[in-house]
Amino acid sequence: MIRVLYLAGSGRSGSTLVTTALGQIDGLFAAGELRYLWQRGLVEQRPCGCGRPLPECPMWSAVLADLPPHDPASIAAGLRDRLRMRNRLRVPPSPDDTTIAAVYQAIHEHTGGAVIVDSSKLPPYGMLLSALPGIDLRVLHVVRDPRAAAFSWRRRRSLDGDERLMTRHPVWKAATLWTVWNGAVLSRWGGGSYLRVRYEDVVQDPATWVRQIATFAGAAPDAALPFTENGLLTLAPTHSVAGNPVRHRTGGVEVRADDEWRQAMSPRAHAVVTALTSPLLGRLGYPFSRRTR
Ligand SMILES: [Zn+2]
Repeated sequence: MIRVLYLAGSGRSGSTLVTTALGQIDGLFAAGELRYLWQRGLVEQRPCGCGRPLPECPMWSAVLADLPPHDPASIAAGLRDRLRMRNRLRVPPSPDDTTIAAVYQAIHEHTGGAVIVDSSKLPPYGMLLSALPGIDLRVLHVVRDPRAAAFSWRRRRSLDGDERLMTRHPVWKAATLWTVWNGAVLSRWGGGSYLRVRYEDVVQDPATWVRQIATFAGAAPDAALPFTENGLLTLAPTHSVAGNPVRHRTGGVEVRADDEWRQAMSPRAHAVVTALTSPLLGRLGYPFSRRTR
């Protein structure tokens, strides 16, 4: 069986930081957002976490060499079509699934059987993975205060160092996505193969949470963690596909709460996001009012 730790949830929830931290641990491989392997990695040739174009990265060129003949653009188009949230969580099977399964098989082989950390987040892609033969899926549900996520969606930031900006959503759209995606995760997964963490808790005590997540994923309980004595997260390059530019950071990184939104978000935006996410706010442990905790 190929163990996959699937990070599920909505965007701008700190999943790239968690994935990059996990990728430093023995027995875990940070693959990044594998649903974007075809479009962003192979069609657009955006850089791997190690900085090279994907086909030139030693890890990915080895994986690609193991795949059956395929057309990345057509797999990307097929995924865009099959993974629409309006299909609910019914993902129609496709002949492309053989190639997609071969990617996980090849990573498994080239990493000596490491747990594959896939931060694709989109719930339907998690459904697709769970239906592939030979995949043993564990789901890590990463949630973040939707006001913080909506605020982050408004920021301007370059993607992979080029002129193109990361997608920006208006607050109402960010809030709607938060509710729909997190609701889908809650409706589909639970029990022993599911772990939910809050971004706010992780940044408060990263070493404890990274240990807990790594053990849940299947790492040895005494595997070395990437933290210095004074709490800095030590990052070496990973071979992660797509995702937030934070995946390119290396060296000692101070993990701290990004809570600029508490001062900078307008009361109106706060009210809009709170209203649109209210069905899940309390359930996921977030207050309705602007108080700090
Ligand atoms: Zn690489």
